[in-house]
Amino acid sequence: MPDWLITGCSELLTLRGSVPRRGRALAELGLIRDGALLVHGDRITAVGPRRRIERLKEARRAEKLDFGGRVVLPGFVDSHTHLIFPSSRAAEYEQRISGKTYAQIARAGGGIRSTVTNLRRASSSSLRDRARAHLRQFAAHGTTTLEAKSGYGLDWKSELKILDVLHQLHQQQPLDIACTFLGAHVVPPEFRRRPDAYVDLLRAARAHGRGSPGDRAARRERRSPRKGGRRRHTRSRTLKCRLHFAAGLLLSPWSRALCSGA
Ligand SMILES: [Zn+2]
Repeated sequence: MPDWLITGCSELLTLRGSVPRRGRALAELGLIRDGALLVHGDRITAVGPRRRIERLKEARRAEKLDFGGRVVLPGFVDSHTHLIFPSSRAAEYEQRISGKTYAQIARAGGGIRSTVTNLRRASSSSLRDRARAHLRQFAAHGTTTLEAKSGYGLDWKSELKILDVLHQLHQQQPLDIACTFLGAHVVPPEFRRRPDAYVDLLRAARAHGRGSPGDRAARRERRSPRKGGRRRHTRSRTLKCRLHFAAGLLLSPWSRALCSGA
């Protein structure tokens, strides 16, 4: 893989710093006019004013890429997506605007549970094709890394179908995808009258480490290591809990039970 010297950055935004910016610091972009970058493999090894970067020894033997006076900035990170879903529920927005509550829409067969029903029926390839189109949109708007969660399957087969599709997409296209297992998104319809039983099921899976997308990914990668030495996309063997906030949704007691459980 060649080294790259990237020039022609009329404004280069480094956003340099070790902590997230807050308040006034948000206006400080670490801006370098007429900046340049030196890239080795998949790492930026030098950044600064063009005249300084061009004089570096490594810059002289690097391939040159001139951006022709564009603004250059780090890719956006989208920390919360539900990338894999079977069909749009945009029509429900119209119902909400016209005064229906989420509970009324759900009772009429809409809401998350309708997505769950459709996702269970959907093929992996249709889910993958839909997600791929959305990933192209993410890329067009500057997002290079995104978190994506399961949680529309709510049974093992369907949750793993989602996680497998996410893992495949991570490998097959340039955006980085960090998977989250969200088996406790909502209580699945077949457990509606006994949510504790679903918590027990998830706990049992957690105890066996089956819920981790990294588990399956790691097993598969051991069988067929990826070419090109790209970073492995695996996670620990145990489920870690993260809070998931959605409009009008608080973490329900049974979700808390799962997170705080043994
Ligand atoms: Zn969400």
